[in-house]
Amino acid sequence: MPITLLHLGILAPINHFYPKHVSNLSFILVTLWLDASAIAYYALGLEMGEFHGPETHSLGAAMALSGIIALIGCGYYMLDSLIAKDLARGEKAFSWLYGAYLGGLTHILLDAMVHSEMLPFHPLPGNPFYWSGMEAVSLVLVPPFIWLISQYVSCTVSRIRKIQAAWRLRNY
Ligand SMILES: [Zn+2]
Repeated sequence: MPITLLHLGILAPINHFYPKHVSNLSFILVTLWLDASAIAYYALGLEMGEFHGPETHSLGAAMALSGIIALIGCGYYMLDSLIAKDLARGEKAFSWLYGAYLGGLTHILLDAMVHSEMLPFHPLPGNPFYWSGMEAVSLVLVPPFIWLISQYVSCTVSRIRKIQAAWRLRNY
């Protein structure tokens, strides 16, 4: 994928149809981690290895890295629900888990469609997902990415309004 942020477009329909079921934060963290070497190179000029090497861009590696993010978040939310004695808070652990693994899985599938050198089933050779669709995949992901940004803007605006309303009530 030419622009890492376009991967996040996947979240827009999920947020719309299944709100709060998939953690956006864990999805974003996994997405950024998988593309860390490309981000470090383009943003800071640092060379940290291959952009799409099997140590990050294979299904096995992505599931392992997603697992690390999933474990940290799930551990935190489980502990939080135990301390608060509120099992409902534990549901956030599942949302975090789905976000991390969905981020890793979709990242590899989307990248494999456009990067012939990727080895999604490393150590097995070849890339059965490749179909030279860089422009098409990128273009398809632009509208959902814009949709996602509009969701974040509208969510932020409604939170600000709620805070303002609560503040007005308190000072009435
Ligand atoms: Zn990538």
